[in-house]
Amino acid sequence: MRAGHLATFANRIFLEPVHPLVGEMVVEVRGFFGVYLLYCINPRYQGRIYIGFTVNPERRIDQHNAGKRRGGAWKTSGRGPWDMVLIVHGFPSDVAALRFEWAWQHPHSSRRLTHVTRRTTRERQFDFRLRVLAHMLQTAPWCRLPLTIRWLKQEYCRDFPPGLEPPLHMPIAFGPVRAVKDTKHAKPLSPEGQVATTKHCSVCLKTFQDGDDDIPLHCFHPTCTMAAHIICLSRIFLEKEPNHILPIEGQCPGCKNLILWGDLIRHHKGCYDNLEADPTSSQKHWADELQL
Ligand SMILES: [Zn+2]
Ligand SMILES: [Zn+2]
Repeated sequence: MRAGHLATFANRIFLEPVHPLVGEMVVEVRGFFGVYLLYCINPRYQGRIYIGFTVNPERRIDQHNAGKRRGGAWKTSGRGPWDMVLIVHGFPSDVAALRFEWAWQHPHSSRRLTHVTRRTTRERQFDFRLRVLAHMLQTAPWCRLPLTIRWLKQEYCRDFPPGLEPPLHMPIAFGPVRAVKDTKHAKPLSPEGQVATTKHCSVCLKTFQDGDDDIPLHCFHPTCTMAAHIICLSRIFLEKEPNHILPIEGQCPGCKNLILWGDLIRHHKGCYDNLEADPTSSQKHWADELQL
């Protein structure tokens, strides 16, 4: 583990409670790029797995289960139904996600994964793919990405192999996720209209312009109004790690709290916006939880 990382395994971030699947809470994420694992539940092919890339997991699983004429892959066509059991998301681009997909599919062809041993005859495909994933999440460049590891189906959840737990800045989340359109000039999601009140980048002090391509990042601490260009904030987060291009954590220039880069990005993309599949009961559900 990286020296100086203040988090410990005990305070690993969980974005949702451990058993939220009963209420079918759906998390919405903008700018979604995910790599998923399918598990075949057809008795004739049970245990087969499939790894794929998607920008829309809900549509993708429907396509797989509808067969290749509806856009499913030929490898999954006619062998369904499949369960989408796990998805890794938070990739900065489709290219980054596609490279991750390729390496997960072909670990023994990836020069980054030469330390991953081959599947033994006793090891189930599912266990093997999880082992490969665990190694990948500890290997550069993936170990520095602000990824979320999300179990989509509770019955498949399991611990990562001992010693191969994902880096502490990657939350393990539970429950369904929904990709929503990334509207380029959408206002970032932030509580109590902080957006309207913050005019300057806290780092370079330049005024934000309407229509800037670089939508500012906002600190998510409730009383903090810090906003900064992504580039500016990553530069100060990387002052102690000049050889890296992707920060892991740093001090908010506003409230001085230590914040994880991945949390900023997830907040920016709406990962903390929890919506329920049935909108009529969503308010009540949250109210109930808050009273506990
Ligand atoms: Zn700036
Ligand atoms: Zn702050």
